[in-house]
Amino acid sequence: MARTLYHGPLAHALAPAALDALPAALLAVDDTGRIAWLDTHVAPSPDARRAAAAHHGWDVDDPLLRLVLPRPGQFLVPGLVDTHTHAPQFPNIASGGQYELLDWLSNVTFPREARFAHPAYARKTYAAVVDRIISLGTTTCCYYGTLHLEATKILADIVHHRGQRAFVGKCNMDRNCAPTYQEASAEESLAQTADLVDYIHSLPHPGPPASPRLVHPIITPRFALACTNTLLASLGHLAASHVSPLAIQTHVAENSAEVEFTKQLFPECLSYTHVYDAYGLLGPRTILAHGCLLGNHELELIKERGAGISHCPTSNFNLRSGIANVGKMLDMGIKVGLGTDVSGGFAPSILVAVRDASTASKIISFQKNTAAIARDASAPLPEELIPPPSIAPLPAAEFSEAHLSLATLLYLATLGGASLCSLEDTIGNFLPGKAFDALLVSVRPETGNPCVWWEDEDESKAVTADGLQSMLETFLFAGDDRNIDSVWVQGRLIGGTGQGN
Ligand SMILES: [Zn+2]
Repeated sequence: MARTLYHGPLAHALAPAALDALPAALLAVDDTGRIAWLDTHVAPSPDARRAAAAHHGWDVDDPLLRLVLPRPGQFLVPGLVDTHTHAPQFPNIASGGQYELLDWLSNVTFPREARFAHPAYARKTYAAVVDRIISLGTTTCCYYGTLHLEATKILADIVHHRGQRAFVGKCNMDRNCAPTYQEASAEESLAQTADLVDYIHSLPHPGPPASPRLVHPIITPRFALACTNTLLASLGHLAASHVSPLAIQTHVAENSAEVEFTKQLFPECLSYTHVYDAYGLLGPRTILAHGCLLGNHELELIKERGAGISHCPTSNFNLRSGIANVGKMLDMGIKVGLGTDVSGGFAPSILVAVRDASTASKIISFQKNTAAIARDASAPLPEELIPPPSIAPLPAAEFSEAHLSLATLLYLATLGGASLCSLEDTIGNFLPGKAFDALLVSVRPETGNPCVWWEDEDESKAVTADGLQSMLETFLFAGDDRNIDSVWVQGRLIGGTGQGN
């Protein structure tokens, strides 16, 4: 792989509230796809570039060195991380929104997933799904397959071949599903899961022998109510039995009927979250989707175990499940990333999840304001003591009382997701030593996105930190696949419109 130098604007998140916007960065990617070094301020001139590179022992005139120089309106961001989606449900996008979760599963989802019993259907569908997800700038994706072993191996093959970073899991579901779409026994479910884990571990390295694996297996009990106690226990043992414990993904506290049913099935457990804990499925590598209806003791348990939440607001609005209180989770120090949850969510783009996460946090913030006003109104006071109308929120924690900022939204879409996947040392931002998983974003007019505005003067205007933040906000709130010029994973170009280069 050729070494690469990128010289231009770059924005990345360093922490939940720390956005680093660098208008003139110089970033070097070595021949293994890792970030070799990053200079934060290098004047946009060939001489300054040459001098800065020489300081690191790099020669900008090396014919084998690839130089990426963005045009006005282009900038680099870390690749997006989708911590929860269902690959077989893509054909169902934007259907079934009249249902809540349990009816939606029976009427829309299970019939579709049953079709993946046919490998030919899986091959054709999954190839298109993975291409679409990459075109949307998702460089790391946590995939649920169906319950079928062969189809899920095909999904892993396609992801591996396309060079995306991913976790791929086969659903475990041996009760309370559809008669024609349910596993025959806990033993069969476990054996097929172990087979898939071995298969993914045996996929060849994507490059030279030292190159890191990009595709990982993930244990995927669909949700507690779809698994017998025997199956949950055996999956917990399987996850812990590997030298490096396997990642786990499942759903939790999404919808009120689901929570009630789970309580009935596991009366011995204190809460829905305690079910996973009881069976060894709640640990630092566990990704729990949704968490709209988690109680405080459950949040505390999640924090204690080092697990985290995949926030899927598009799905939560669409299936009328509720709103997860992400600000509260962040204040508690719980790991949080974003998920599209296709097709409960009707959009496969993390950019849409960003917008809905913003809206969800704004709803929470003005519900609090409304409650404060109601409190003011319900306390009769002598007229002279009546305070002026107040819409000020209650004393604020850092995230709980406010809508999510631009910095936090970028964090959730990148470093937060990476952290939830236990990949925070590998991806999520542009710190040296991490893999170069990145997007070259373009808000230029030729991208053809009618929601993105461009003034003629922008063509010659020097980029400032404020201007870069403004372009980032435009991308997060109005961008789509047309604005993603290039998609790199581990330094390898795997997608994008390629209009700018
Ligand atoms: Zn889901």
